[in-house]
Order: sequence, then C-alpha cells, then structure tokens
Amino acid sequence: MPAKIYYDNDADLSLLKDKTIAILGFGSQGHAQAQNLRESGCNVIISELPDTPNYELAVSHGFEPLPTSEAAKRGDIVQILLPDEIQADVYRNLVRDHLEAGNILMCSHGFNVHFGQIEAPAGVDTLLVAPKGPGHLVRSEFEKGGGVPCLIATGDGASEETFALGLAYAKGIGGTRGGVIKTSFAEETETDLFGEQVVLCGGVSELVKAAFDTLVEAGYQPEMAYFECMHELKLIVDLFYEGGLNYMRYSVSNTAEYGDYSRGPRIINDETRAEMKRILKEIQSGEFAREWILENKAGAPKFKASRRHDRALQIEEVGLRLRRLMSWIDSKEV
Ligand code: NDP
Ligand code: MG
Repeated sequence: MPAKIYYDNDADLSLLKDKTIAILGFGSQGHAQAQNLRESGCNVIISELPDTPNYELAVSHGFEPLPTSEAAKRGDIVQILLPDEIQADVYRNLVRDHLEAGNILMCSHGFNVHFGQIEAPAGVDTLLVAPKGPGHLVRSEFEKGGGVPCLIATGDGASEETFALGLAYAKGIGGTRGGVIKTSFAEETETDLFGEQVVLCGGVSELVKAAFDTLVEAGYQPEMAYFECMHELKLIVDLFYEGGLNYMRYSVSNTAEYGDYSRGPRIINDETRAEMKRILKEIQSGEFAREWILENKAGAPKFKASRRHDRALQIEEVGLRLRRLMSWIDSKEV
C-alpha cells in the first residue's frame, strides 16, 4: 500500500496558536525546529545546559534558555531533542513530573518511546515528527521557502487531535512543504536503525574500509585507493539521489555498468542478505536496544574503543591529507 503523504493544505497552523511549545535541547534538530516554529508564528521556549556553546547559540538567536524542568512545566507540547542516549534519564528526572494531562510529549526519533525507556503519564499523548534530514538542512530549506520531508506518528491511544497537532507542528517546521509521511513509532524506529546499521553508516563504512585495505595490501598506492573507494562514492551517491539506480547506470560507462551487474551480487550475496535479516531481527526483538542502553550505562567502553580505533585508520590519514589539497571541498576535521 502506498504511504499516505500530507502537504501544506492538510495542516492547520492555527491549532498551535494557544499552545506553548517547549523544545528541550538546542542542538542539530533543536536549533532548526525552534527557529522555524518561531518564524511560523508559534510560541516557542527552549531549554539548554548553561555554559555550553549551544546555550550561547540559543541566546544569540534571541531565545532565553530555561532549565529543562522549567521548560517542561511551561510547555503544553514538550519536544525532546536531546541526544537519544540521555533522553530517558533526563525524562525521568526532569520532565515526567512536570507533564499534565492534555500535554503532548514529542520526539523526532522513536527509540526511547518504542523501547519503553520513556513512558508518558496517563492523559499525555506521544507524538513523533521526524525530519528526514539533519538540522542544518531543516533550517536552510525552510529559510529558502522549502522544507525537509518529515515522518509523523502517534503513540498508542493518542487522539485524532494529537495527530492534527502533529501535522500543524510539521507545517511549522516546513515539513508539509516537502511532504509528511504517516508511519508508526515501531516502523520509524526499526527502519531508521536498520538503515543506519546496514547501509548508511555500518554497511557503507565497512565496504569502503575493506575495499581500501584490499587495494593497499595488494601494493597499490593508498592515495589511489582513497580516490577509488571513498572520494568517488560521492559522485555515485549524487546520481542515486537525483535519479536512482537507472540514472547512475545511464551516467557511468558500459564497462562500469557490466561490472556492477556481474560483480555486485558477489559482494552483497546470499550470506550478506541472511545477515541483514539477523540484524533486523535483533532490532525488532529489542536486543540491539538493550545492548546499546547497557553499553551507555557502563560508560560506553566498547563504543569509545571503536571510535578511537577507527579514527586512527590509514584511510583517515590519507584522506585528510588529500582533502586539504582539494580547495573546492569544504573539508572537515574531527
Ligand atoms: P544534538 O546532540 O545535536 O543536540 C542535543 C542538544 O541537547 C545539544 O545542544 C546538547 O548540548 C543538549 N543537551 C545535552 N544534554 C542536555 C541536558 N541534560 N539538558 C539540556 N540539554 C542537553 O542532537 P540531535 O539534534 O542530533 O538529536 C536530537 C533528536 O533528534 C534525537 O532524538 C535524534 O535521533 C533526532 N534526529 C536527529 C537527526 C539529525 O540528523 N541530527 C535527524 C532526525 C532526528 P551539548 O551540545 O552541550 O551536549
Ligand atoms: Mg537516524
């Protein structure tokens, strides 16, 4: 069944007119959603940690950041835009007791609600409005008169009014200009985790690393391996983005296209597909969520070790050196 998609005419911003929207966190999503809503005429308050760069950023944009509990108390709609791994603690300690019946608890990623780390009190509906893009794009597209497409979902037992408020919220951040797709907390959370693990972050990074290592171990120059296996990926992904697989294949040489059909399925083979199914099962069963929650409770030792290890990879050193010489790239260093 094709997804239901909502546009500007399906949403009524006036539903938010008498509501106070409290945005917790002025980070990637927070700074974008708060400013877009404010410019759409909504009544927005925000919370941030004092003495942090994002607190100062919020002040420079004319907000007066409140302590989290104060913002939660004043908000009729409380949108949690804190890092996912700290949301549950902040919610239990600083938010939950300040929610009243009739308030709405929002998020832009369903992880904590779906996996039971955040449970709204009786009479408080849960609502998800999730832009399908990073905060800086949510902001810059809105400023240009456009908007990043969003997902919308309501939690168990939520009312029709909550859904309508969600559409209004999506309109306020520009989402209905791009289209808002109706989903569920389960679907948003599970597909988001699957996509980032299997393709976007996990799959692509490992593919690039393995291909780079293969060329370097075979004696090719690391700079050549970097260009072939990492740099040029952008050109291909841009073609996907503009016109899908067909357009990529139309644009590359016939030799490249033949290599794609004949060799691609040997890299992503039946074994890989079976592993994808196992990874999906771990997501659906809550096994991944449990692992990640416990990892954070233990101070994230495995996560930090992986990060340290991969930051020192040869491909990172080679890439850094080459990118500095490519003046047209706005090169970033972490
Ligand atoms: P960020 O890490 O960019 O922003 C979180 C903000 O919260 C930071 O400014 C952080 O401050 C602040 N913060 C941290 N701890 C506290 C606290 N105890 N009290 C108040 N503020 C605090 O997060 P994102 O915007 O990336 O993510 C927010 C939500 O949006 C997540 O649920 C995420 O899954 C979702 N989302 C993110 C997308 C993205 O592309 N980034 C896309 C779609 C959804 P400091 O920087 O000082 O730590
Ligand atoms: Mg995500």
